[in-house]
Amino acid sequence: MASSRTVLIAGAGIGGLSAALMLARSGFRVTLLEQAERLEETGAGIQLSPNATRILIDLGLGPRLRSDVFVPEAVAIKTATGGTLARIPLGKDAQERYGAPYWSIHRADLQAALLEAVQGNPDISLRLGTRVDDFVVHAHGVSAACRARARTIDEHGIALVAADGLWSVLRPRLGHRTRPQFARRTAWRALVPASTVEAEFRAPDVQLWLGRSAHIVHYPVKTGALINIVAIVDDGWSEPGWTASGDRDELLAHYSPWRWCAPVRDFLALPDRWLKWALYDVPPLGHWSEGPVTLLGDAAHPMLPFLAQGAAMAIEDAAVLADCMGRYPDDIPSAMRRYQRARRRRTARVQNAARNNGRTYHMSAAEAVLRNMLLRLAGGKALLRRYNWLYSWKTAPPGSAARRDVLPGKGEEDE
Ligand SMILES: Cc1cc2nc3c(=O)[nH]c(=O)nc-3n(C[C@H](O)[C@H](O)[C@H](O)COP(=O)(O)OP(=O)(O)OC[C@H]3O[C@@H](n4cnc5c(N)ncnc54)[C@H](O)[C@@H]3O)c2cc1C
Repeated sequence: MASSRTVLIAGAGIGGLSAALMLARSGFRVTLLEQAERLEETGAGIQLSPNATRILIDLGLGPRLRSDVFVPEAVAIKTATGGTLARIPLGKDAQERYGAPYWSIHRADLQAALLEAVQGNPDISLRLGTRVDDFVVHAHGVSAACRARARTIDEHGIALVAADGLWSVLRPRLGHRTRPQFARRTAWRALVPASTVEAEFRAPDVQLWLGRSAHIVHYPVKTGALINIVAIVDDGWSEPGWTASGDRDELLAHYSPWRWCAPVRDFLALPDRWLKWALYDVPPLGHWSEGPVTLLGDAAHPMLPFLAQGAAMAIEDAAVLADCMGRYPDDIPSAMRRYQRARRRRTARVQNAARNNGRTYHMSAAEAVLRNMLLRLAGGKALLRRYNWLYSWKTAPPGSAARRDVLPGKGEEDE
C-alpha cells in the first residue's frame, strides 16, 4: 500500500509535470506514470502568457527558463497581402500590466526545465514506459491498473489525476463518451534558423498573418536563434498525432500567389521539414471529477490552439489542484470538487474564445473587410485590454475574498 499522501498522475506532458511539482510543494508524494519510454518534445515552439509564466516563476523555474526564452515585443497582426492591422504590445507592457512576462520558448526547453525539477525532487517518482489503462476506487483511495514492459502492475494512491492528453483513455472512464471532433483544420509546424529569413520575419514579435481559409503564426524561440512557424489551413486530413511529415508543395498550395504576398510564400518555402497535426476539439465537459479521480490539462478541456492557451490552462489547473488538495488533504473528493468548480467556467470560456478566434482568422470577403477595419480602429492597446481577464489571472492568495469565492467552505455543495 502506498503512503497515505501518494498521488498518482497519469501522463507526464506539460500538465502532468507541472502538477507533480505543485503537488509535491503542497506536501504530497507523487507517482508520475508516463506511457512513453522517453520524454521527447517535437521540434516546435510554444507561447507562454503571463497567467502561466507567473506560476512557473513562483515555482522557482524563472532563473532556469530565462536563459532559454524569448520576450516578444508585440503581436503584429497582418493581412495576407502584407499590411499591418494592429500591434498588440507585449514585452514591457505585458510585464507592467500583468506583473509577469509573456514568453516564447522551444517546447523541449520547457520540458527539460520541468523534467529536471521533477527528477531533482525526492517526493516525485517518475515511471516511464508505464501506461495507465484503468482504475478502481476503494475505501483508501484509488488503484491504477498499469502496463509496463508487457507486465501488468497496480499502483496505489489517495488520488488519481488523469493528465493523459487529448486522447485520454481515462476520460471515458469518468462517463464521457464524446470523442474529440475533427475541426477540419491542420496545423503545419516548422523551425528555421533566424539567420536564414528576411528581416521582416525575424522581427522580435509574434506575427499573425490572416488570410482566407488559412493563417500563419511565427515567433522567435531559442533566445531568437530559431523562428517557429505554425501555418494553419482548412483541410480534411484527420490523422491524429504529432509526427506526420508534410510536403512543402502541398502546404504552399493553400497559400496561393493570388491571395498571399510573395515574401510570405518565400518564407513558407524555406523549411526543409514540416510536421503536420490535425486539430481536434471537445466541447466543455459537464464534470471532471469523481471521488478521488480527476482530469487535468487537455484531458479535461482540449482546445484549439488559436488563443495559445492549452498549456497555460494545464499549468493553471495544476496550481489550483495543488492548492485545493493542500487545503483538504483529508477529504480528497471534496478537494477535487473544489478544483473542478474553480476551473470549469474559466477553461470553457478559453475554449470558446479559441474557437471564435479560429472563425475570425479565416474569414473571407466582406466579413474579412469588416474584421480588418475593426482591428485597425481598436488599436493594439485596446486589443490587449480585451485579454485582461485571461492574462491577469492569479491563484488567489490565502485568506482573500476571491479565494473564499473560488474555494468555498467545507460542506458546501458543488454547482
Ligand atoms: C499547433 C499547436 C500550437 C499550440 N501552441 C500553444 C501555445 O503557444 N501555448 C499554449 O499554452 N498551448 C499551446 N498549444 C496547446 C498545448 O500544446 C497543449 O494544450 C498542452 O501541451 C497539453 O498538455 P497536457 O499535459 O495536458 O497533454 P499532453 O501534452 O498531450 O500530455 C499527455 C501525456 O500523457 C501521456 N499519456 C497518454 N495516455 C497515457 C496513459 N494512458 N498512461 C500514461 N501516460 C499517458 C502522453 O504520452 C503524454 O506524455 C498548442 C497546440 C497545438 C496543437
